[in-house]
Amino acid sequence: MKVAGWGNYPTLENANLFRPADANSIQRTVSASDFSIIARGSGRSYGDSSLSNNMISTLRTDRFLEINEESTLLRCEAGLTLNSVLEAIVPKGRFLPVLPGADLVTVGGAIASDVHGKNHHRDGSFCDHVISITVIVASGEIIECSRANNADIFHATCGGMGLTGVLIAATLKLISISSNKIKQSILTASDLECCIELIDKNSQSKYSVAWLDARLRKTNFGRSVLFLGDHVDECETPELEHPKRTDLSIPFSPPSWVLNRHISRAFNEAYFRLQKQQQTAVDYRSFFFPLERVKNWNSLYGARGFLQYQLVVPTAEGIKETLTAVANSDECSYLTVLKKLGTGNENLLSFPQEGYTLTMDFKRNDSIFPLLDKLDSVVLDQGGRLYCAKDSRMSKKMFQATYPRWQEFLDLKTRIDPTHRFRSLQSERLGLNK
Ligand SMILES: Cc1cc2nc3c(=O)[nH]c(=O)nc-3n(C[C@H](O)[C@H](O)[C@H](O)COP(=O)(O)OP(=O)(O)OC[C@H]3O[C@@H](n4cnc5c(N)ncnc54)[C@H](O)[C@@H]3O)c2cc1C
Repeated sequence: MKVAGWGNYPTLENANLFRPADANSIQRTVSASDFSIIARGSGRSYGDSSLSNNMISTLRTDRFLEINEESTLLRCEAGLTLNSVLEAIVPKGRFLPVLPGADLVTVGGAIASDVHGKNHHRDGSFCDHVISITVIVASGEIIECSRANNADIFHATCGGMGLTGVLIAATLKLISISSNKIKQSILTASDLECCIELIDKNSQSKYSVAWLDARLRKTNFGRSVLFLGDHVDECETPELEHPKRTDLSIPFSPPSWVLNRHISRAFNEAYFRLQKQQQTAVDYRSFFFPLERVKNWNSLYGARGFLQYQLVVPTAEGIKETLTAVANSDECSYLTVLKKLGTGNENLLSFPQEGYTLTMDFKRNDSIFPLLDKLDSVVLDQGGRLYCAKDSRMSKKMFQATYPRWQEFLDLKTRIDPTHRFRSLQSERLGLNK
């Protein structure tokens, strides 16, 4: 079969996707085979981290295993999607402490990428709220890990991009909510400086994310809309329904010229003019997953696909330099998002570090690659790094220069996977396999 990540680049022809029905079958698939393999959840990573000639889909291992009496801990299988988790826990007044911008991400995928949300500055990343995980390693052995038990495997698997084994289950800590609504404040910023100032000034808000107009303008460079949010509390009658997914989809694959810089300019003009400073209560789905209203929005980029470039740099200067380099080029980022990140954690390959993270979506064409190489130099000079869950082209040199614990990771991987059976197109490119 033909497979790709969310960006539809790169694609792999004639790959095998095994779909074991349960954890025992996953174990049998791992132990009985001698070819290389990688776990695959929902394929919501943008690039090639879940691509390999042989992949194990975890989507059929999607059972709830246990929810404790007070519903503060949830144990579930790793192929369960975050949407299914929310559907079950929101009516009980519980919520996941960290959510990425896509709800069909699996629990296993969220752990393997140690995903972050709009609240990293306050609450850290997904794995900071994971109590324990169960992993099938290359020998077929099932290993239980936590911060106290097999801690080295725990910290390599959390954020380890599937390279230590297949996650089959996890215990997650939940938070309490009394409403399914988010109190959302919208603030507008006339330029980048003003946006960063607003983000910093409002860091007491639990959730914070800015959408930027990244075009170069004499004035208003980096004008933006900042969305702040906190859970609505103290409701007289708690509203705890799980808002359903919408089923809107683009009914055909549009040619890539449909999305062009003129459309983007018109959209940005309308979008930024229409946004008014305001406070409203919105359901959490609209706040956390705005892009998910249209199921296959990624097909707008056409058959050649697109690349999402996500970086983190310690200071606002790095963001300004990156955006200036893009604005001075002939390329255009169709969606540009800025968030503040708090301090990183102990996981060997987790992406977040203190600073600002910028995400840009570029159509794939031949001239995009030289620009991204140029942006890599800015990120490197600024002491930042790129996010593996979004990556499809980072060089081994860039990876090793910016992820200081890569060798420690490789040593541990070699210990538990001596023949390096777990490998993806990405891990080969980044030198994470021998
Ligand atoms: C619209 C959109 C918005 C997003 N927003 C954010 C965001 O705000 N923050 C953020 O951090 N990320 C974000 N992402 C990225 C996404 O959260 C991650 O790529 C996540 O890992 C995808 O999970 P998945 O189940 O689709 O995994 P896949 O894409 O299938 O796999 C991703 C990686 O996880 C590994 N993996 C998957 N399942 C397992 C398992 N059971 N055991 C071991 N390894 C496994 C794979 O081998 C691969 O390396 C977004 C993605 C989209 C499409």
